Amino acid sequence: MPSTAQTAQQQTAWPEGVIARYLTVGGATVDIQHDAFYVYDTEPTSTVVKCGGCPDIHTEQWAEYADSFDGGVSWADKEARKWAQAHAEKCRALPRPTA
Ligand SMILES: [Zn+2]
Repeated sequence: MPSTAQTAQQQTAWPEGVIARYLTVGGATVDIQHDAFYVYDTEPTSTVVKCGGCPDIHTEQWAEYADSFDGGVSWADKEARKWAQAHAEKCRALPRPTA
């Protein structure tokens, strides 16, 4: 039987483009998305991690792992997940209440 908190997390709709979401110890969410790195990029070129509790943002540019088979996407995602996991374990900032 899932706890109420788990059920609530599962039922909350993820923002468009979010590929992974982590729950911090403070109760905020850390979202991983693919996004353009430069303003002139017309396609996503990086994996971006944003904490919903504090202003921390982490970006993994796909070009840095361009030697891998899929242009660096999976490596960037992997590094982004590592950062998100580590951040979620220590961030105690609370998410800003939504009106
Ligand atoms: Zn945070």
